[in-house]
Amino acid sequence: MPNGPLMERGEGQMGNVGRPKQLDRFPNGEIGIVWQDGHESYYGGHYLRCACACACARCVEETSGRKLLDDRRVPGDVRAREIHAVGNYAISILWSDGHDTGIYSFERLRNLCPCCRSGESD
Ligand SMILES: [Zn+2]
Ligand SMILES: [Zn+2]
Repeated sequence: MPNGPLMERGEGQMGNVGRPKQLDRFPNGEIGIVWQDGHESYYGGHYLRCACACACARCVEETSGRKLLDDRRVPGDVRAREIHAVGNYAISILWSDGHDTGIYSFERLRNLCPCCRSGESD
């Protein structure tokens, strides 16, 4: 693999996170992302599903942004069935529980990185 810069100049409107260098879906349902700065994030299926912030009237209340989704009602073994690119700023995930309206921007995914959040109290 060439070790050249993958950063594409001229896409400055994307914010400072950038498109992931690599995005993998593992057989166990985890999603792994390698970022432009080399940081690696691993997301469990349940974790990401519960972090869905779409306004489908089940996840988040559109008007207030309040979270409606009850994590306990999300199957513990929920996993990403399909991942689709949305423009060059986000991915949409089709979940095994049938939920398919969730869109996760790369910026939000970076903010959700479990290892970076481990110091925070929830
Ligand atoms: Zn949702
Ligand atoms: Zn992290």
